[in-house]
Amino acid sequence: MEDVVIIGGGITGCSIARELSRYDIKITLVEKEEDVACGTSKGNSAVVHAGFDASPGTWKAKLNVAGNKLYPALCEELDVPFVLNGSLVVAVSEEEERVLEELLEKGRLNGVNNLRIIGKDELQAMEPNLSSKARAALDAPTGGLVCPYEFTIALAENANQNGVKFWLNAMVTDIEKLEDSGFLVKTSRGSLRAKYVINAAGLFADELSKIAGAEEYTITPRKGEYLVFDKQFSGLVKKTIFPTPSKISKGILVCPTVDGNIFIGPNSNNIQDKLDTSVKAPGIKEIIEGGKKLVPNLPFKNVITSFAGLRAVSNTNDFIIEASKQVKGFVNVGGIQSPGLTSAPAIAQMVKGILQDEGLILKEKPTFNPHRPMKKRFRELNNEEREQLIKQNPAYGHIICRCETVTEAEIIDAIRRPVGARSIDAVKRRTRAGMGRCQGGFCSPRVLEILARELGADKLDITKKGPGSNLLLGRIKEFLQVEGGDNNDN
Ligand SMILES: Cc1cc2nc3c(=O)[nH]c(=O)nc-3n(C[C@H](O)[C@H](O)[C@H](O)COP(=O)(O)OP(=O)(O)OC[C@H]3O[C@@H](n4cnc5c(N)ncnc54)[C@H](O)[C@@H]3O)c2cc1C
Repeated sequence: MEDVVIIGGGITGCSIARELSRYDIKITLVEKEEDVACGTSKGNSAVVHAGFDASPGTWKAKLNVAGNKLYPALCEELDVPFVLNGSLVVAVSEEEERVLEELLEKGRLNGVNNLRIIGKDELQAMEPNLSSKARAALDAPTGGLVCPYEFTIALAENANQNGVKFWLNAMVTDIEKLEDSGFLVKTSRGSLRAKYVINAAGLFADELSKIAGAEEYTITPRKGEYLVFDKQFSGLVKKTIFPTPSKISKGILVCPTVDGNIFIGPNSNNIQDKLDTSVKAPGIKEIIEGGKKLVPNLPFKNVITSFAGLRAVSNTNDFIIEASKQVKGFVNVGGIQSPGLTSAPAIAQMVKGILQDEGLILKEKPTFNPHRPMKKRFRELNNEEREQLIKQNPAYGHIICRCETVTEAEIIDAIRRPVGARSIDAVKRRTRAGMGRCQGGFCSPRVLEILARELGADKLDITKKGPGSNLLLGRIKEFLQVEGGDNNDN
């Protein structure tokens, strides 16, 4: 019997898992995909929002501001890069300047510190590549950047280190309330008994709440598409540049990443299919127009990739974080759309409080270690440090991903860590191998070989992103034998 089963290994589920791992209770997190951070938590703007957007009084507003304050210390504990670059909402017309005043007031009501409106000259000095039409901006110095999947993975690693079990490739298919007490959570990997169930299933939270017999609500997927530019344009903008927001979104931004790329996006379109993360021509056109409005000289010949993410928009248009009144012990953490990434650390604390109110006794574990194993990022070291490292472990001298300077030792580490990588994309999210200009064209076969060797698996069984995405389909030797040809090669 687990004390708590958490459904969903996104930023929400992993933050809750890590927060609860401080206490002496049994926890299992179940995730339908082969890794954590495979849902919305891998496809978003990666902005730690300051908190001036959401309407005062909403959970989105309160948890955004609370979460923003928790980020710097948490990232330090978990050894995750965090950049306090600040953000600007840029007005290009008189009407938009009035919107800045509204945002400033909302920000004040939400408790955001140090907000101010700046004029054209200061703005152009801060960001010289901005459109000459930019007239004023809301300056929010507490806005920051984080890598959303690296942060989610770090939370999962640390939770696992502190005793949380992770069931991956485990899709929850049914949640049965047991007569005596607790739940039977049925998954594609087997069943678990639990006293409490936390529903952090992102886009599918509405369906799981219904399955459990708890409160009904709806989640609509709202797609946002992006284009990412080559790192050589790092510095084109330093702050996160927002347009003035629309009724349903913060608009198309031009934004740096913690890793030195620049991206534009997202647009904002409601769709039907909760799995559709395709990027299409009309979407690209829309984000190009939006990006050019803020920064006209975007280097469109140097786009290296595109991606899309789906916001989980609830019918209440706010986060739904509450213990079910209908099914005791079931806690909904649904509708976690933007600013869910920013809010996640505060959501985790709120969920802890809900569980306590529901009767879960939390006794601190003296063995809790807030630090995950340190990561060596070879590309960030100077030559002396690199030499030292290679002497200790020659696998640091073997570069696997040339675009991002990722070594064999880092890939091995990503596989051997808690909640280790089991696919090419899982290695990519942990090391950046395959995230550069060639997008894995050169390093994917090398990563596949290392995965097979480390896991003692057949190369044919190594996948890009879990079951059904195998990269190799058969051996030439077998093919040639069938064809009756030369069979020297395998
Ligand atoms: C375009 C876009 C831009 C955004 N930008 C920002 C931003 O800049 N800043 C910010 O703060 N927020 C941003 N957000 C919001 C943020 O990304 C989300 O709020 C956050 O990632 C939600 O995390 P989650 O864990 O709730 O959901 P997810 O990451 O989707 O995780 C849910 C998990 O549950 C799993 N699951 C689902 N069903 C089952 C099942 N039956 N059994 C087992 N597992 C299941 C899924 O596989 C998934 O891994 C953005 C979102 C989008 C789409």
